[in-house]
This record gives sequence, C-alpha cells and structure tokens, in this order.
Amino acid sequence: MIDKTGRKIEYLRVSLTDRCNLRCVYCMPEEGIPKVSHEEVLRFEEFEKIISACANLGIKKVRFTGGEPLILKGVEKLIAHTSSLGTIDDISITTNGILLGDMADNLKKAGLNRVNISLDTLDHEKFKNITRGGDLNKVLKSIDKCFSIGLTPIKLNTVLMRGFNDDEVEKFINLTKEIPINVRFIELMPLGEGLKYYDKAEMKIDEILDAHPELVSIKDKSNVATVFQAKNALGTVGFISPMSCKFCSSCNRIRLTSTGTIKPCLHSDEEINLKPFLNDKNALANVIKDTIYNKPEEHHMDKDKKSSTHRMMFQIGG
Ligand code: SAM
Ligand code: SF4
Repeated sequence: MIDKTGRKIEYLRVSLTDRCNLRCVYCMPEEGIPKVSHEEVLRFEEFEKIISACANLGIKKVRFTGGEPLILKGVEKLIAHTSSLGTIDDISITTNGILLGDMADNLKKAGLNRVNISLDTLDHEKFKNITRGGDLNKVLKSIDKCFSIGLTPIKLNTVLMRGFNDDEVEKFINLTKEIPINVRFIELMPLGEGLKYYDKAEMKIDEILDAHPELVSIKDKSNVATVFQAKNALGTVGFISPMSCKFCSSCNRIRLTSTGTIKPCLHSDEEINLKPFLNDKNALANVIKDTIYNKPEEHHMDKDKKSSTHRMMFQIGG
C-alpha cells in the first residue's frame, strides 16, 4: 500500500492492551489508568481479522506492543495466527522483559522472530524507582534466556533522561562491545506522563555523539534509527530522535489500538474506528486502505513541544 505522499506502508504495530505490570514514571500515572470496559477491548478473533486484512493489503511486518503485551493471556495464539498467514516476514514484540524469560520458549515456538526489550537503566535501585517497583534481575534473566534460545537479534530500548540515566550512556555503549546486543537510545517524547518530565529531562542525541567519537556510523536497514558501532563491538548503538530529527518522510507504519482504532500517525489525534466494519471483509479492507492512503504527512511535535495525540503512550504502544 502506498500513501498519498508515496510512502510504502508495510508495518503494523498492534497494541494488545493498555494495562501493564510496571508503572514507568514517564509513561503511566502512579494511580494507575482508567479501566476500559471488556466490551470496548478487541477480542482475539477481532485482532485476527484486522491483522489478516492488513496482511492482504501488503503489511509485511507486525509488532505486538501495549501496555505490556505479555500480560495478555494467549498472546502466543495471536502470534501463531500471524505466523500462519505466511506473508508476514517479521513478527516482533516490544516488552518490558519482566515475563519474557518464562514465556520465551513458547513465543518462539509460536513464530515470534525477535524482541525489543525496554530498559532505561542497568542499576537495580534506579530500575525499581523508574518502573515504580520492577525487578531488574527478571529483565536480565530474560535477556539471557533469549540469547540461549536464539530469539535474536535483541534490541534494548533506552529512553534518555537527563539527571536519570545520562551517566549510564557509557555503560550501555560498553554492553554492545561485550555482547551482540543493539542498544537504541530514544529521545523522551513530550506526551502523556512524559510531558511532566520533558523540560528537565530532555536530551538530544548530538551531545552523546559528540562525547563518543569512537562510534562510527554504519548502514542499517532501520528507517527510524541512525546506527553506529564502536570498534570491534559485537552489537550496535542506535538513536531514535523523533524530536531533533524527524523520520516522518520515511515512516512506513500504522498502529492498531486495543480498542480497535487505527492510528495512521503516532502524534496525530486522527483515529479511525474499525469495529463497525469487522463483519464485512470488503468494508474492512476499504477503510484500512483509505486510512493508509490519507496518512498524515508529518507530525509537528518539534515546533509545538508537545504531541497532538490525546492518547497516552501505554495506549498506543510507542
Ligand atoms: N510495555 C512495553 C515496553 O515497555 O516495552 C511496551 C509498551 S511501551 C509504551 C513502548 C515503549 O514506549 C517503551 O520503550 C517505553 O520506554 C516508550 N515510552 C513510553 N513513554 C515514552 C515517552 N514519553 N517518550 C519516549 N518513549 C516512551
Ligand atoms: Fe508499562 Fe512499557 Fe509504559 Fe513501562 S513503558 S509503564 S513497561 S507500558
């Protein structure tokens, strides 16, 4: 599917739930989140219908996210369905890694190709603070498990925050020298709870690159990250910078929320509800086609200093 600006859209990100087993301070409010009624949330068969429709329209890559996708019972079934379509080249998941170690064997068996694990600090106490109670050991064990069964390559998503983990950048870079892991530093986005921290914690990737001349630019097929590597390193260091370096012109993705709306742009308020079309294959295909064609050209978060979406990050999935 080509949109009206000529971009080829072949990547679907599916948010399976807005619930989570952690409460990262820049993502979820401390008091928790408003409860969404059971009827509002898509059922498994409904997720399956939408993923199948997207696959028929040319989607080649599917990522499951959330909230925390691994708290959804039966997530393996959905991965198995996606894999059984036979046309999806890449099935991945973005997870906080807490439950991953215990589930990794079954996820791989179901057809999961690889994982992105969100990890903002390598310090046990800081991890507990930023996630409001999480256990870093569980995430580290999950990483080991994924390596041991070949659920690789593994990407680590690390949101950069001044005053919190700017002193750990070197530790993360060193990790890529020791193990074949791909660290992706992500600029904090002024969205949802992130807005509260943005002014104080904002960091730009240029300052890291200036401080680490040992990082050499390498070619990578990612269209959102610029990727570097230290000499003789086994892994890579990437930067995702929606604020200082927009990648809208090469954006190839659409997002499905757990309540059945398609978001053609993460930072736009535009959403199309697919629920009324779920029992009519042609109508469902047409509305997805139309949404893709009319995908917004770009976001304006860099100028406005805030995202235009009213959704929180845990409702979209990043
Ligand atoms: N629970 C899963 C996880 O943490 O990987 C998946 C959902 S989470 C919303 C997806 C990603 O969004 C995580 O890497 C998280 O760090 C990132 N994120 C959440 N709020 C953010 C913000 N305000 N700015 C930048 N990244 C954010
Ligand atoms: Fe949960 Fe992921 Fe948000 Fe952290 S970033 S609160 S793990 S959804």
